[in-house]
Amino acid sequence: MKKQDFKKRKIAYFTMEVGLDPKIATYSGGLGVLAGDTLKSCADLDVPLIAVTLLNEKGYFAQKLDEGGSQAEIPVEWPKEEFLTLLPVQVSVNIEGREVRIRVWEYIVKGITGATIPVYFLDTNLQENAEYDRSLTSFLYGGDQWYRLCQEIILGIGGVRAIEAIGYQNIEKYHMNEGHASLLALELLERTKKDDEEDIYKQYDLESVRNKCIFTTHTPVAAGHDRFPLDLVKRALRSDLPFKMPGLFIRDNEMNMTLIALNLSKYVNGVAKKHGEVTREMFPGYSIDSITNGIHLLTWAAPAFKKLYDKYIPGWQSDYFSLRYAMGIPKEEIFQAHLEAKKELIDYVNARTGIGMNYDIFTIGFARRATAYKRADLLLSDMNRLIEINNKAGRMQIIYAGKAHPKDGGGKELIKKIFSRIKELNPKVRIAYLENYDMTQGKLITAGVDLWLNNPLPPQEASGTSGMKACLNGVPNLSILDGWWIEGCIENVTGWAIGSAQKQNTDSAQDVRDLYQKLENIIIPMFYKEKDKWLEVMRHAIALNASFFNTQRMVQEYVLNAYL
Ligand SMILES: *Cc1c(COP(=O)(O)O)cnc(C)c1O
Repeated sequence: MKKQDFKKRKIAYFTMEVGLDPKIATYSGGLGVLAGDTLKSCADLDVPLIAVTLLNEKGYFAQKLDEGGSQAEIPVEWPKEEFLTLLPVQVSVNIEGREVRIRVWEYIVKGITGATIPVYFLDTNLQENAEYDRSLTSFLYGGDQWYRLCQEIILGIGGVRAIEAIGYQNIEKYHMNEGHASLLALELLERTKKDDEEDIYKQYDLESVRNKCIFTTHTPVAAGHDRFPLDLVKRALRSDLPFKMPGLFIRDNEMNMTLIALNLSKYVNGVAKKHGEVTREMFPGYSIDSITNGIHLLTWAAPAFKKLYDKYIPGWQSDYFSLRYAMGIPKEEIFQAHLEAKKELIDYVNARTGIGMNYDIFTIGFARRATAYKRADLLLSDMNRLIEINNKAGRMQIIYAGKAHPKDGGGKELIKKIFSRIKELNPKVRIAYLENYDMTQGKLITAGVDLWLNNPLPPQEASGTSGMKACLNGVPNLSILDGWWIEGCIENVTGWAIGSAQKQNTDSAQDVRDLYQKLENIIIPMFYKEKDKWLEVMRHAIALNASFFNTQRMVQEYVLNAYL
């Protein structure tokens, strides 16, 4: 980085995971992919921002599935030297009275006009550190609560120190991507201490810290909000501020990372309009805005669609709004581009599974983290009904993928259940479950299927972004009205809804009936018999949704609403 660059950059974005490249295995799912897409758009738009994350040297995990769908988790080694440069900078944090030294690796995100975003990966795997401390930047979401707390000390406290040591003197905003990074606010607060004040709350300049901090929360699921038992906190942290100002840090006898971020941030947001509402209900008394998520279009466009947009909408790569002009692309060319993407996917699936899928059959895609509320098995609820639809409305094939978190027993059971249904339905309905869902597969599947299905139990999906990748590639969504789809769905125009936004179905049975009904009476018949209508929906998905649900629009909102 050049000298003036250190002066110019004013925003620091902190994230536990980041998905910048399929080979840099430092992400687990939506949160990391969003962070990566955000940084790419920041580079495209030349936003003066830097990012901080953990090295996660052994990644999240690689998924192996046996015959019965039992998941095994294999550590991943990714070639960090190929992507990152080690900087001549070290800082340290104190954990449990020990000095833990941190070194820093730099990755440069390059934007389309040549502007860059530096990303700093914190690494404790140094000889001078104790054996345990050396492992603290190994596994993303690995280990127990103690491991996680130590990691969050590295990220939050170590991160603030690292960017100063690198040379950034003018950071004015600290953006916490999820509560994992909240301890950065503790570090900033510690620095405001004035000894001549009696009242503890006046000893520290809360307002100045609040003016610097921004917090984005990403899930309405309670388990997604980190909390730590106070004995662990006492043991790990050198600072006693959480105990001196419990109102800011502690709830229900635990240090609550979301609470810290809420109390110490001036700007707080959820990641879709509905998620903003849900978050306001979860945390009454706080001012909470919403900025709907997006995707980095250049990353997620299949080669055939990239070519098509380059041909008909020159300049779209630096102006994502201009995808609205996709309404002028001849439908037949959209169809041809889709066939190309579909062929690539079907070849990939057949090569991996030997299942013998067909290019001409209506193909449904469902890929996301395997966890109970996402209800991956909903489509397979009634096997007879599914076969009946397949026979009467038109043939279908289904592609699944998704990892379960190593500690999510329910998620693992779900994969096994799908495996057993797959065996029962084969060969009447061909279904594949791909092993080791990652960004590469995400890109292939979202572009190559004919219909993208998402049916979480509302209101637990904060936003979701995979459906946006589908839209970009002209693939219509069929989804529960939750997260971003409440904003993106225009029935029969951009895709279809399961249930209604006003009156959410309270039991899965109703959702299953809706899902089958739409497939049988509307979607499959349109796919096979009304090609022109189908292509119109594809084109609307691009023009109405991809032009809006992207990180260029999203980053512009962050700049205007949060950073400036
Ligand atoms: C896009 C993506 C996600 C996020 O998708 P959801 O809609 O939240 O399921 C997760 N994992 C991977 C690998 C992705 O590419």
